[in-house]
Amino acid sequence: MPSVEESACECAILAQNEGENVKENTSKKAVIYTRVSSEAQVDGTSLDTQAEACRACAARLGLAVISEHEDAGKSAKSTVGRDALAAAVDAAITARAALIVYKFDRLSRNLGDGYDLRDMLLAKGCRIISATEGEASASPVSKALYAMMMAFSELDNDMRAERCRTGMCARAKAGFWLSNPPVGFKLGKHPSGGTILVPDGDQSVILRNAFLDFISGRIDKSGLIKRLKDAGHPGSTIDRIIRSPVYGGIVRNRLTNGEDVPAAFPGLITADQFYVMEAKLKLKKRVQLKDNPAFPYTGIIHCSVCGQPVRSGFSKSKGKSFGYYFCKEAKHPSARRDDIHAQIEAMLSDLGKIASFLELLKGAVNDLDLQDPDRAERTRRQRAVSRIEPQLARLRSALLEGVFSAEEYAAEKDRLTTELAEHRIWLESHDASADHRSECIDILIGVFTNPAELIEGLTVAQTKGLVRIVFGKLTLTPEKKIEPASDSVYTILTSANAGSFSDGAPGGD
Ligand SMILES: [Zn+2]
Repeated sequence: MPSVEESACECAILAQNEGENVKENTSKKAVIYTRVSSEAQVDGTSLDTQAEACRACAARLGLAVISEHEDAGKSAKSTVGRDALAAAVDAAITARAALIVYKFDRLSRNLGDGYDLRDMLLAKGCRIISATEGEASASPVSKALYAMMMAFSELDNDMRAERCRTGMCARAKAGFWLSNPPVGFKLGKHPSGGTILVPDGDQSVILRNAFLDFISGRIDKSGLIKRLKDAGHPGSTIDRIIRSPVYGGIVRNRLTNGEDVPAAFPGLITADQFYVMEAKLKLKKRVQLKDNPAFPYTGIIHCSVCGQPVRSGFSKSKGKSFGYYFCKEAKHPSARRDDIHAQIEAMLSDLGKIASFLELLKGAVNDLDLQDPDRAERTRRQRAVSRIEPQLARLRSALLEGVFSAEEYAAEKDRLTTELAEHRIWLESHDASADHRSECIDILIGVFTNPAELIEGLTVAQTKGLVRIVFGKLTLTPEKKIEPASDSVYTILTSANAGSFSDGAPGGD
C-alpha cells in the first residue's frame, strides 16, 4: 500500500489529462466525502483515515475544505439512501467545489451510478478527485480508467459470488446434498460435517417398493404412477420423483456439471437399479450447461451482420474435431475457436504492455473494499441455529408431557427441522473466506501479461465478466476478425497509447 504522500504523485496518471478539460475549474474549494460499509472497517480505510488522506490531498492541491460528509455503515452497491453523499454532491455543485474521496469506489461500486454521478459533477463544472487514485477528468483516457476501476469493484463482487458457487460445487461433487430434501428423505449430518439425506419413515419404504416393483416388471409405468398417487403424491410432482437419480444414491445437477457423482449417503435403491429404471422410463435428460469452459466467449461475441450472439460447437473436419464460433444464419460469419481465442489473447496482452494500465489495475484491486459481505447474514443465521436447536430438544419433552398431540408434534418438528436445515445449508456454503486480495491481483495481472492462462486462472463467468469490461460488445466479422466496441476501455487505451488521439482530440464527450 502506498503511503498518502507517495500516492499523491500517482495522481499524475489521471491528472495528465487535466489540460484537456474544456471547462477550467478555478475554484479553490473542496468538499470531502467518506464512506465505510460497516462500523468495524478494516484498518487503513476507516472514516478517520479516509478523511485524513482527503484533507492532505486538499492541502496539497491548495484547496480549502468547506465541508465534510460521512456515510457510516452504508454499502456502495447503490447511491440510494446515502444522505451524506447527496449532501456532499449538493455542496460541491453549489460551491463549484472539488469533491474529494479516498477512492473512487467510495462513491459507488455500481458502474451505472458511478458514471451518472461523475458525468453530472463534471457537467456542473466540479472536479472529482480521489486522494489515492488521482483526478477523474472528462478526457476519454480518464473515462476509460475510471470505468476500469468501477468495473473491478463489480468484478470483485462477482468473484465472491463465484467463490461461493465453487465451494458449493466442491461439496456437490463430494456427494453432499445442498438443497431441500426430496420426498422420502430428510436432511442429516455426515460424520465429516456435510449435509446428507437419510430415509424418512413410511414414504421412503413406499417409494422403494414402488421402484423395485417397476424395475422387476411387476408393475408398469402407469402402475408406478398410480402407486405414488395413492401414497398421496400430487400428479405434478410424480414426474420429478421418478426421474430423480438421488433415489439411486446419485447426485446429478448443475453443481456437478450434470455428471453423476456417487452420493455420500445410500439411496433408496442402488445406482444400478436406478439406471435400469431410468432406461425403462427413457427419462435421461441432459443437464443444460450455462458456462461451457470449451467456449468461454459464448454470449459475448456477436455476429457483425445480424447482431445476434454467435453460437459455438465442435465440428469434424478431415477426421479431426475443431471448435467453432458461428452465427446460426447461413453465410453469416464463423471462425475457428482457437483462432478467436488467439485474437482475444493478443488484444489482452496489448493492454498488458501499457505500464500505467497495469499500475492502475494493481492499485484498483488493492484498494477494493475486500471485506466479508456475508457477515451480518452469517451472524443472523448462527443465532437462529442456536435458538432452534434447544427448541427442538424442548419439543420432545413437550410431547412426553402431553402438551402436544402426536400430529402437532410432527408438524412443529417438521417446521423447525426444515428451518434448521435451511440455515445449516446456507452457513455451509458461505464460509467466512480469507482475504483474497493478492489472489485477485495475481489473476488479473496474469490475464494481461500472460493471457493464454486466462481461461485456466479464471472461471468461465469471471472470464466473461472481464472480457466484457475490457472490450465491451465483441463482434465477429466476415473476415473472421474479432472487433471490440469502439467506446471500449481497450479501444480508448490502445489508441491513446499509440498517440493517435493527442492532436485535435475533443476533451469532453
Ligand atoms: Zn448473423
